[in-house]
Amino acid sequence: MFVDKVRITVIGGRGGDGAVAFHREKYVASGGPDGGDGGHGGSVILRVNDNLSTLLDFRYKRKYQAGAGAGGMGRKMAGKRGEPLIIEVPRGTVVRDAGSNQIIVDMSTGEDFVIAKGGRGGWGNAHYATPTRQVPRFAKAGLKGQERDVILELKLLADVGLVGFPNVGKSTLLSVTSNARPKIANYHFTTLFPNLGVIYVEEGVSFVMADIPGIIEGAAEGAGLGHDFLRHIDRCRLLVHVVDVSGSEGRDPVEDFEAICAELKNYSVDLSSRPMIVAANKTDLLMPESDNLERLRKAVEAAGCELYEISAGTTQGTAHLMRVVAEKLRTLPPVTIYEPEYVEVIEAPTDPSAFEVEHYGSTWLVTGEWLSRLVQNINFEDYESRNYFDQQLRKCGLFQRLEEMGIQDGDTVDIYDFEFEYQR
Ligand code: GDP
Ligand code: MG
Repeated sequence: MFVDKVRITVIGGRGGDGAVAFHREKYVASGGPDGGDGGHGGSVILRVNDNLSTLLDFRYKRKYQAGAGAGGMGRKMAGKRGEPLIIEVPRGTVVRDAGSNQIIVDMSTGEDFVIAKGGRGGWGNAHYATPTRQVPRFAKAGLKGQERDVILELKLLADVGLVGFPNVGKSTLLSVTSNARPKIANYHFTTLFPNLGVIYVEEGVSFVMADIPGIIEGAAEGAGLGHDFLRHIDRCRLLVHVVDVSGSEGRDPVEDFEAICAELKNYSVDLSSRPMIVAANKTDLLMPESDNLERLRKAVEAAGCELYEISAGTTQGTAHLMRVVAEKLRTLPPVTIYEPEYVEVIEAPTDPSAFEVEHYGSTWLVTGEWLSRLVQNINFEDYESRNYFDQQLRKCGLFQRLEEMGIQDGDTVDIYDFEFEYQR
């Protein structure tokens, strides 16, 4: 089964814990704190690999987690950073947030994208040494990495999409005009993967054509395989509609042409208004007494399109068709790249009063979701901001809790890398 849409979970590595350690040397009675910081967790990174053309690999593995940072060690040695996890995706993979369905990134340009950040490593106790606090017996735990559910959706980046009923000769046309070697056989649905081929017309003139399999009647309503594949032609700048004009399979070319057009329209109006060229294929099989070609030509012209006679089997007319296509492409806008729609959602508000306090002598360590965000958003250089911070701490009940626990004037309060001296 062809997979071009998968849901996966990506998780940044956890940050390593900071170390609590003290310097020891033979002739030094009691050394200072020298616990190193934990290493940062690795990030999950998306990278384009042009050798991939499907999302098949994601079928069996749904969870992707980068390496954790190692814990800090004595002698101020920082823990090793977590290994980043690189996920390779085919070019043209669009990544959406699974919750909102908004586009996070379009992996079309070839730039790496950090999809889940690793957690910060915690500070070791060496970090907490001050002249008045020479023996800090605490360190920070590493933070969790970012976790998110995303949907990967493959939308091929091809200039031209081949559409048409099964067995009309789409794969054959692609194989005789490009470097692609798609499977060709005389039965329906041989092509379960969209094939891409580069068509070289002349120096400096080339384009990418995709053989989109399985557009059949009812596809837009989800019948058969077709529906899944229609998304791939979303981005094509031009459609080449291949019709078996010989009626070699007992079908009528005019009916085929109209059925596919209706199918495209059903799927999206935008797609049905995409520029289209019709390739009347298998002309080598056309019976001399047949009026198929004339009838098809009339229907095609009535639809406002041009018709070109070809035989993919004998390559008659195919090079000419490719030149016409290249010429048309010059006048058309480039392939659509999707702009991100994703606005980093401010996470659901957490409870300000949910914090924990630990104390080590005169140092008070405060932790809590809400507080960690508050600290990140305060500019401590700015008086107004500091004032606001102070008010918030009062409001959330922190000072009251500290007093209940017996804090003294001059003690140190430590909230996520921010420290201040307590004054009533
Ligand atoms: P697709 O399903 O549209 O990709 O069709 P294929 O390219 O797989 O072709 C289906 C069958 O039609 C194969 O047996 C091809 O060899 C044959 N075929 C394709 N084009 C021509 C042609 O121009 N003339 C003749 N005689 N046979 C053709
Ligand atoms: Mg095919």
